[in-house]
Amino acid sequence: DIDLLTFGEALVSLRSAGPLAAGGPLTPHLAGAECNVAIGVSRLGHRAAFVGRVSDDELGGFLLRQLRAECVDVAHVTRDPERSAGLMFLERRTADLTRVVYQRAGSAGSALRVDDLRAALAAGTRVLHLTGITPALSDTVREATEWAARTAARAGALVCLDVNYRAGLWSRDAARAVLTPLADHVSVVVASADELDLVGVPGADEQTVVASLLDRGVSTVLVKLGGDGARAYTRDGCRHAAALPVTAVDTVGAGDAFTAGYLSGHLDGLDLAGRLRRAVTLGAFAVAGHGDWECLPRRDELSLLDSRQPGDTI
Ligand code: ATP
Repeated sequence: DIDLLTFGEALVSLRSAGPLAAGGPLTPHLAGAECNVAIGVSRLGHRAAFVGRVSDDELGGFLLRQLRAECVDVAHVTRDPERSAGLMFLERRTADLTRVVYQRAGSAGSALRVDDLRAALAAGTRVLHLTGITPALSDTVREATEWAARTAARAGALVCLDVNYRAGLWSRDAARAVLTPLADHVSVVVASADELDLVGVPGADEQTVVASLLDRGVSTVLVKLGGDGARAYTRDGCRHAAALPVTAVDTVGAGDAFTAGYLSGHLDGLDLAGRLRRAVTLGAFAVAGHGDWECLPRRDELSLLDSRQPGDTI
């Protein structure tokens, strides 16, 4: 049985140590918000599955191998012989400025459709994780996202939507037109403070958007605040969780780690304080090490960042 099912585009990210135009080595990594969440949850011992389309070539093989190595179930991934892998280049432009360039239009991942998801959803899952990136990829993926959210909610799964706005894929208005109705099938909404009005009225403030989401049946709204931690809203009110004090070296993937931690807490039956604690713990691991998911903790490492001193050897 699957604890958490997620779907979307697995990307090959190619990292360079300096400006891309200057050449030099590129190192391939698995990337993509949904894969990050699947890995975060799997490392903590839950059964996570990823569904998507990957190219039927070496790059697709690389993505599957990475997911399998992290014990993520890929039984329902479709290999697409017609299309290439979506690529993402990360160039370290200066010591603390990384530029991202995507080559993902028309990729295998963007050809995902409802039929690709049927078997995985029929098999059942306790949690369905969605991001606002996936429905931006193409019309077929948008239909698949809406279908999956509706179908999983009807089957009684906890549906979690992470807004994850990507300005390179669509406008704020286009995102709002798709994500706001999607929220009707969702139990948990995750957003950064500046993304909240993408599931509400344009320009609406946090309290207004949260009140309307709770009215529409969302049970929990999580607002990520970077180094300031996060706020969680439920019908019982608002609770703040502080971030763990760590030295941040790479913030990419922090939001996905946070979501993975929260959902792991849900799967373990923790109360809201416990779910938030696990969320900020995974967020801290993500920013304290390099890579989008590589430094996420195993279950026996969850308390590693508690009461440590800089430079400790453990
Ligand atoms: P990204 O899009 O880069 O994945 P995000 O904007 O979605 O990130 P953030 O709000 O930056 O998400 O971070 C998510 C969580 O990670 C925060 O709620 C916090 O718990 C943790 N976090 C982020 N930055 C830091 C930091 N500097 N120190 C400790 N924890 C952090």
